Amino acid sequence: MQNLKSHITNPVFKQIGIISDQEGVETYVVGGFVRDLLLERNKVVSDIDIVTVGSGINLATKVALTLRKNLKVSVFHNFGTAMFRYDEIDFEFVGARKESYRSESRKPIVEDGTLEDDQKRRDFTINALAISLNNDRYGELIDPFNGLKDLEDKILRTPLAPEITFSDDPLRMMRAIRFAAQLDFEIEENTLLAIEKQCKRIEIVSKERVSDELNKIMLSHKPSVGFKLLEKTGLLQLILPEVQKLKGRETINGISHKDNFYHTLEVLDRICKNTDNLWLRWSALLHDIAKPVTKRFDPRLGWTFHAHNFVGEKMVPRMFDRLKLPLNEKCKFVQKMVSLHMRPIVLSEEEVTDSAVRRLLFDAGDDIDDLMTLCEADITSKNPEKVIKYMANFQLVREKLKDIESRDALRNFQPPVSGELIMETFNLRPCKEIGLLKSAIKEAILEGEIHNDYEQAYQYMLVKGAELGLVNQTTKKI
Ligand code: ATP
Ligand code: MG
Repeated sequence: MQNLKSHITNPVFKQIGIISDQEGVETYVVGGFVRDLLLERNKVVSDIDIVTVGSGINLATKVALTLRKNLKVSVFHNFGTAMFRYDEIDFEFVGARKESYRSESRKPIVEDGTLEDDQKRRDFTINALAISLNNDRYGELIDPFNGLKDLEDKILRTPLAPEITFSDDPLRMMRAIRFAAQLDFEIEENTLLAIEKQCKRIEIVSKERVSDELNKIMLSHKPSVGFKLLEKTGLLQLILPEVQKLKGRETINGISHKDNFYHTLEVLDRICKNTDNLWLRWSALLHDIAKPVTKRFDPRLGWTFHAHNFVGEKMVPRMFDRLKLPLNEKCKFVQKMVSLHMRPIVLSEEEVTDSAVRRLLFDAGDDIDDLMTLCEADITSKNPEKVIKYMANFQLVREKLKDIESRDALRNFQPPVSGELIMETFNLRPCKEIGLLKSAIKEAILEGEIHNDYEQAYQYMLVKGAELGLVNQTTKKI
């Protein structure tokens, strides 16, 4: 069997081996660390899983003591696990376990087990590889399920019959798809069939765990791989029915609309080349989410999706709430992107006027660059001439944005004349004229009639106030 001694260089591994020998227990490093090491994945190591044929809590506590005085060990008695963080890496310790299912109960009985018992309970053969840390076998690879071969063949396969592995923890179905997307692996045929058969069981898994995996799919280099698998296996319909509904084309009078599912996935993959921002990626997934519910066929116009951006904006928080995704400013950001996603394209279809660019900048604020990134990803036309035209127009929009921004400072627009000043100047109590004046000033700035500064805005307020029949009380006093 392969020896990986020269690759297990982290001094903590040596220390774990020494303490294990003293305690008389076998100990191994398993899971993602071993997989990524063998794959030569250039990934920053953030967590390492250690399994010992004995007490994980005891081993973690003793190892921590020898590494540094006061190194904090978190102990989870319920799970029989313990963890410490050393040199920015989380080391998680667990005792080898065996699960047995009694016919009368769905709940497994968890007992101490051998290394192989523990490897069997893991999700995929490539995640069940273990490397020995005891001195006499240091670096030895233990691979009872041919995980190494599956790594080489880029295959995801469960160590046990897939029905059993997935039934024990249905989240593993999502994990299979997540690893397929992250690693560019194929899911073995029977494993994939088992997901199709059991997809319904995903409903017993907590939303947080499901969303964690969804986010990992979203953060992979080509999320469409994951979403196509979610769709094929029936999981998408259960966890994101709104995205499932994007699939398909309808034809009336010989006119079809595009398949918005595949269009969306193309936009998502395109945006991933330009951003690692999870929430901008979510915006790409959801930008057309309301197309199915707003779809109409108009004999004169063909297919229309009237106001799908605004309806989509309203759907986002409902979906985030259901998925237990954050409902804070992240959700608001996605809503904003969905609601504004057509603006730059509409703008560039017409003549790119200063005033339209100013309005866009005003509405998008600091998120303008992200919005432009989304819109550029949204151009999936197969017509190269159209693509060139749109891209050139976007370039023009970007230039104008830069130019207007340096002159008008509109990103975080604050009215240059406050409501209080309006009230004071015209001696007003709260009334609708104040709002009218404020929006007249804003409009004048956006139209480019006046600059975004106090002096011009004040003068403009006086003129507009007079038009409304208001009297400037401050000059009267002088
Ligand atoms: P990464 O940390 O890169 O996301 P990983 O494979 O390390 O990937 P973790 O969630 O850190 O994933 O889990 C560590 C190991 O624990 C896995 O490699 C696998 O062996 C096992 N494991 C984790 N979750 C499950 C699960 N739901 N079912 C079975 N085994 C699991
Ligand atoms: Mg891990």
